[in-house]
Amino acid sequence: MSANIDQLQENMSATGAPLKGHPIQIVVANDDHTFELNEEALEEVLLQPHIRNKKVVVVSVAGAFRKGKSFLLDFFLRYLSADCSPDWMGDENSPLEGFSWRGGSERDTTGILLWSEPFVCRSGSGQDLAVLLMDTQGAFDSESTVRDCATVFALSTMLSSVQVFNLTQNIQEDDLQHLQLFTEYGRLALEANDNVSKPFQKLEFLVRDWSFPYEACYGEAGGKKIMERRLTVSNKQHPELQQLRRHIRSCFDDISCFLLPHPGLKVATNPHFDGRLKDIEADFTEQLQILVPLLLSKENLIVKEINGSQITCQDLVEYFKAYINIYQGEELPEPKSMLQATAEANNLAAVAAAKNCYTKEMEDVCGGDKPYINPEMLHLEHKRAFDRAMELFASTKKMGGAEFSEAFSTKLKIEIKEAFDQLVKHNETKNIFAAARTPAVLFTVMVV
Ligand code: GDP
Ligand code: MG
Repeated sequence: MSANIDQLQENMSATGAPLKGHPIQIVVANDDHTFELNEEALEEVLLQPHIRNKKVVVVSVAGAFRKGKSFLLDFFLRYLSADCSPDWMGDENSPLEGFSWRGGSERDTTGILLWSEPFVCRSGSGQDLAVLLMDTQGAFDSESTVRDCATVFALSTMLSSVQVFNLTQNIQEDDLQHLQLFTEYGRLALEANDNVSKPFQKLEFLVRDWSFPYEACYGEAGGKKIMERRLTVSNKQHPELQQLRRHIRSCFDDISCFLLPHPGLKVATNPHFDGRLKDIEADFTEQLQILVPLLLSKENLIVKEINGSQITCQDLVEYFKAYINIYQGEELPEPKSMLQATAEANNLAAVAAAKNCYTKEMEDVCGGDKPYINPEMLHLEHKRAFDRAMELFASTKKMGGAEFSEAFSTKLKIEIKEAFDQLVKHNETKNIFAAARTPAVLFTVMVV
């Protein structure tokens, strides 16, 4: 019976079961060019009990406006919803759903969106990971919106483990300049953590509408050829451009490039096109069949790392909060403040994880469903859980040095003390003998 249900579920996902979830705008650019984080929505996505403590994989797609980013993400959604099955592309007549992609005159709000339901995928090494898809949007129609877009690009790069840099026709010089900020941040971060790990993980240049397949073939091999050419340092370049090229590689663990063909006129121009495969050129879907598993198959998933430590969904919340703060000014932030925010966020994430550890341990001792416990015993258990939490905090890799972490260690101690005070009070309410001695309670008991 249960085998049949499993079978049924498998079939449903392979043939495209209704898509679960919806896009949620997490970061919004306001009219005055400040950025706002929708914390509540973020926590609703990332603190869901079944994923909050799972390591997180964040795949973002960023780049200029109306270049097929959301359209591509909807294929990612199909692949993940079909549990990476080989026939994930599904029916040729199904409209493409998920992040909204259809062109129109209406302008989307600049910012960052997440898919509300992270996918739980078992990695190549057998660990369950939460896979989060991130869409970015914005329009480059004035000087200030260009800055907003650069900010969205920067934020999404800092928060993802895989950044797909969506480009059209080729890798241009100004595309590389978008990476300038990171190369400088990267240099500082590398100095700060003694070169243990590169600051960012995977960067995928994705070139859309590639139209010179005779020069470099579609896919990864052609992409490699174009990228090597673009990233080569030559004496003819301005020294700044040479420097930029040198540094880009030192910032990312892995950089690759993929060339996608044009998807055909129906996709590009037909206002009634609804995304069905039937209307997309076969060359395009063939390459998509290769590209999507390269980024999302179980073997290829990349857990988000910061300062060389893999982070969980819960940790990611702290990074969102910290990074949004540094992008509030008129200008793009200094790489130094990006570094400072990272150090702060990884200390805060370590505090949150240690506090969680304390709460969990104490729940087993005196949680809501546990009976009254002798106060001395409770104190002993508290000491044990406190030591465990402090140990966990101390052993978590953090940036900024020991002195910087001291303040966070104090914060953790205060938070645990407050939690303990609450537990003591709560424990007392369970003590019916003590309660019975107080007249008010005695009265209630008698009346009842
Ligand atoms: P976004 O603003 O980058 O998210 O772009 P959308 O995903 O909303 O797509 C904008 C338009 O581009 C839609 O009408 C798509 O049909 C079309 N489109 C999608 N992929 C491609 C592509 O690879 N090449 C071209 N030329 N158009 C595309
Ligand atoms: Mg879009």
